[in-house]
Amino acid sequence: MNWRRLAGSVCDNKTTSAPPIQIKTLLNKVHRLKSFVYHSVKMCGTGDKARLIAEIIPRANSRPVCSGCGIRRPGYDRMLPREFEFIPIWNIPISFSYSMRRVDCPRCGVKVESVPWAQGKHSCCDAYRHFLASWARRLSWKETAACFHTSWDNVCRSVKWVVDFGLEHRELEGITAIGVDEVTYSKGHKYMTLVYQIDGGCRRLLGVIKDRDTASLTGFFATLGAERCAQIKVVCSDMWKPYLNVIAAMLPAALNVLDRFHIVKKLNEAVDEVRRQEVKKLAAEGYEPILGKSRFVS
Ligand SMILES: [Zn+2]
Repeated sequence: MNWRRLAGSVCDNKTTSAPPIQIKTLLNKVHRLKSFVYHSVKMCGTGDKARLIAEIIPRANSRPVCSGCGIRRPGYDRMLPREFEFIPIWNIPISFSYSMRRVDCPRCGVKVESVPWAQGKHSCCDAYRHFLASWARRLSWKETAACFHTSWDNVCRSVKWVVDFGLEHRELEGITAIGVDEVTYSKGHKYMTLVYQIDGGCRRLLGVIKDRDTASLTGFFATLGAERCAQIKVVCSDMWKPYLNVIAAMLPAALNVLDRFHIVKKLNEAVDEVRRQEVKKLAAEGYEPILGKSRFVS
């Protein structure tokens, strides 16, 4: 081994490598803020209690945005520093610390400014809420909160925020195929109905409906609207009578495809019924029944 050469290459690497990256630089790369700067990052506590605090300040000469009208207005005063939870870095919790400015708005009066990293009075940054909501699809809400050092309430609120946004912006046009299915909960004592879109290019959950009765499913299709219901050409469902009735009444143009499990079950019941009758008839006529206990000849 040529130690001198090895030592030289390590030395070369040191001299030619990029300067060590600072957390401020990292934040600017992944979460740049317009009109604000990351002023300093400090670490508080040790071990499990360690957390990072990134102080944010406004850019020099920048004017705050009024949260009422969204227009830049003159500053009025500053409030005490407020903390906003951000996505943990190397699993170390990090919060932004910022003293919100109040604006003197001629239209809205004295208002707290709006900032680009969080909305309203939320204590979590928007990016963190997206992050939590995306992990809550893979882990339980409790596990998500524990893994990323936040509360169950924050995970719940993040999911609600993302779901509300999705519902507000979802596109319901062009649905031509749906599936209607039931799910039990509360140890099998209660039911809910799930409605899915099952078109070739788009498969998604459209509705979670309490119960599996006529009124609840009728209400779902009424909310969907007569025009959209008329575009549905295929519905897959099981043979639960209220489903069949509602589908026939609300989606008259649709073909109701029944699921294979229930059809096979009904077919087997019919074959069994015929077999029993034949066995009885053969026995009455003095013959030995050959299919007494089975549908199959062994
Ligand atoms: Zn205003």
